[in-house]
Amino acid sequence: MRGRKPVRPSSADPGRESLSLNSDNSAAVFRLTLSFMLLMVVSFLAVEGWRSWRDYRHAYASAQDSVRNLAQATAQHAEDAVRQVDVLTAELRERVEGDGLGNIDVPRIRALLDQQTRIMPQLQGLFIYAANGDWVVTNQYITPETANNADREYFTFHRTHPGREVRIGTVVRSRSSRELVIPISRRLDNPDGSFAGVLLGTIKVSYFLDYYGDFKIDDKGALVLAMRSGEVLVRRPFVSPATDRSLAQSEIFTRYLPFSNEGVAEVKAVIDSTYRLYAYRALTSYPLVVEAGLSRESFVGPWRHDLFKTGMVLLVLIAGLSGFGVLVLTQLRARIELEEQIRIAHQTVHDMALTDSLTGLGNRRKLDIALAQELERARRQDTPLALIMLDVDYFKRFNDRYGHPAGDECLRHVASAIRQALKRPADLAVRYGGEEFTVLLPDTDVRGAGQLAEAILQAIRALDIEHADHPLGRVTASAGVACGTPARDGTTPAGLIKSADAFLYAAKNGGRNRWCSETASHVRDYVAPSA
Ligand code: GH3
Ligand code: MG
Ligand code: MG
Repeated sequence: MRGRKPVRPSSADPGRESLSLNSDNSAAVFRLTLSFMLLMVVSFLAVEGWRSWRDYRHAYASAQDSVRNLAQATAQHAEDAVRQVDVLTAELRERVEGDGLGNIDVPRIRALLDQQTRIMPQLQGLFIYAANGDWVVTNQYITPETANNADREYFTFHRTHPGREVRIGTVVRSRSSRELVIPISRRLDNPDGSFAGVLLGTIKVSYFLDYYGDFKIDDKGALVLAMRSGEVLVRRPFVSPATDRSLAQSEIFTRYLPFSNEGVAEVKAVIDSTYRLYAYRALTSYPLVVEAGLSRESFVGPWRHDLFKTGMVLLVLIAGLSGFGVLVLTQLRARIELEEQIRIAHQTVHDMALTDSLTGLGNRRKLDIALAQELERARRQDTPLALIMLDVDYFKRFNDRYGHPAGDECLRHVASAIRQALKRPADLAVRYGGEEFTVLLPDTDVRGAGQLAEAILQAIRALDIEHADHPLGRVTASAGVACGTPARDGTTPAGLIKSADAFLYAAKNGGRNRWCSETASHVRDYVAPSA
């Protein structure tokens, strides 16, 4: 016998393949749809996330520009305001020192001061104090009762420091107008260099506040003019001079200003503990610093609002998409389940159509399909193919004596004996009809088939089923064995069955309980050992 490939009976099931292909397709479509939905959602989120991040960067960058511009404008403004007073006091000093403090023409100087004060909106007043602090001349007509300023800090400073440069002092409340003012002072010298008095110009804090008030910054924004030492001179929002207003310990003064005269930093304000984006700038000519700050909220707020709006739209979109997706996927899943049920039902019907209900073996239809396929395969592969036709002996008598149900039971036992005698998966046993069985043996020659026929007959005898109307007293069967090599002898399905049937007939005629094949030497009697 030649080497043989296993025969798969399922190859006779064309419907099964197309159905499982269908449900595979549906599962693939399901996965594809799910992946597509997920991809859509992830893409939406990624694009929106990226857009929001870009918007945030824009908002931040434009806030940086804004604070930089604000700082630039306020620095310029402060520098101009102070410089004008600086220049004015320098000229006045020349004049007063030239005339000598004792010889000055008070009405003329007063008129001059008055005129200057009127053309310089930042000026609150101009004052000349004698060495003992007494008011010598001022543009102001109302002189306070205690008109002595020797106690002022700037006065003490100039008296004890011979320096000629202008000095900017911390905010004081004017004795004449009760306004808050920034004192800009110079020392007056006698010709011998001794202290002659103090020349003072005062700048209104309100002048800065008015200017700062014009900028469109939100409630939490801040504009600050401070001494380089940290002392706040002017601030919007306003803080009373009574509170601790030194910026000396602030982050900008400790960490940034020592290294750079201007810059931008996001820090927490020491005065109101608010986080702001600050631009700071040290004035070039005076020991002054300006800071312009925008609260984080002022530029993050609109961005957040926008993010919220697009977030909501995105959420609705994703919800809609998810809802739609769930709908589609549910439908798809239902379809897959239905297809699976149909497949199973189809398979069941298919199996039933090819199965013999009494014995569980294949039926004649199954044999027809398998025989055609195996014959074709044998033709292609040039292999032999054998068929055993088997018939229970004297079965009519068995039925007559023991009844039809007992006959059925007997057939079930015979079927099971046949099934157990088959060893190869490719071998196929079917109930051909009535008490006839057929065994199809692919890639088996007449010798091998005879051996199997012998084994089957022996297995049936071994069942040892009583049959009183049988000469041997036990159930036996007869078999005809046919074999062909389609590639050589043109064997056909009908021809093979016919041939097997003829040998079965010969076996019956030969006395039953035996098998016959084409080779005479194979015609042998088999008698049950018990007989
Ligand atoms: P032989 O030895 O020549 O084969 O004699 P036989 O009696 O077996 O042959 P015959 O063809 O005359 O009788 C076959 C009988 O098998 C007829 C019927 O009573 C019985 N038979 C056929 N199909 C069934 C079945 O499904 N169940 C039962 N219980 N009996 C069946
Ligand atoms: Mg029969
Ligand atoms: Mg019979």
